[in-house]
Amino acid sequence: ASLAATRATEAGYRWERYFEGDEDGGKWRIALLGELDEALRSGALWVAFQPQLDIVSGGILGAEALIRWNHPVRGPIPPDSFIPLVEKRGRIADLSLFTVDRALEALRKWQGVGLDMSVAVNISATLLKKRDFLDAMWEKIESSGVRLDALTIEITESAALEDPEAAIAAMNELRERGIRLSVDDYGTGQSTLTYLRKLPVHEIKIDKSFVQGLTENASDRILIRSTIELAHELGLKVVAEGIENLECLEALKELDCDIAQGFFIGRPMEATAFEMLAENGGANRASAIAA
Ligand code: C2E
Ligand code: MG
Ligand code: MG
Ligand code: MG
Repeated sequence: ASLAATRATEAGYRWERYFEGDEDGGKWRIALLGELDEALRSGALWVAFQPQLDIVSGGILGAEALIRWNHPVRGPIPPDSFIPLVEKRGRIADLSLFTVDRALEALRKWQGVGLDMSVAVNISATLLKKRDFLDAMWEKIESSGVRLDALTIEITESAALEDPEAAIAAMNELRERGIRLSVDDYGTGQSTLTYLRKLPVHEIKIDKSFVQGLTENASDRILIRSTIELAHELGLKVVAEGIENLECLEALKELDCDIAQGFFIGRPMEATAFEMLAENGGANRASAIAA
């Protein structure tokens, strides 16, 4: 890995540029899997927190927890290039539980010092259907002692919700226990509002591919506007991700979007950096997420 790659640790958006991906035909990816346990132990895998802004009040209300792998030789490896493999090899439960642990640890610390922030964790719909995983996750959540309304689960890979029975049962269970639920990457794949109606979620997260076209592309603007209107009619909060400039944030505010996330607001960062940001610019979280 180059020095540039090391410097780009936090600049997720530049990773692709520095990342030397498949020069050996991708064999290194397979080797990577053998290093997973060591990386979980050594701190090479860690969790970054990206701030979320309450658009109405202008305050930070919480963060999304995003996994990071700083490989000792290859440098930072973006999650999109190892998560699919980890999933395929049946290790995604371990990795997700690691992220859940770190998220809970941060939440407990923040709640202990009176910092009222939420944390969102990514869990794939496929994993949600697994009883073992749910039990293990719930055990961690309960023993952490955190107030549960501060925890959001972002459901990724929503294609797996096409056959949603088992996932819906799991979602209902989590919801009844007081955890918030969000549908990630909304607008990609099969996620239509018709099927959304069946999901017991509190929030949808509009994918960055639409958000980034908002100020230039009339069709993206129409899609976002109608999504926000319908989501609100269904009683759902709307998060937009991928906000990279003020123009985009203002356009979303005008469209009545609730929550914003993106490099313009803040990069994914270490927990301590997020704490400083939150102490200086915290919002009233409860009023921001109340449906
Ligand atoms: P996601 O959940 O949709 O997360 C948002 C991604 O957008 C993150 O990429 C974030 O760094 C990036 N992003 C945020 N703001 C901006 C922006 O303004 N511009 C641009 N261009 N990108 C922005 P990241 O961290 O590379 O994560 C990629 C995906 O990997 C995530 O997408 C999520 O699906 C998955 N992922 C990350 N951490 C975990 C984890 O702990 N468990 C699981 N299962 N999946 C994870
Ligand atoms: Mg997410
Ligand atoms: Mg997303
Ligand atoms: Mg994504």
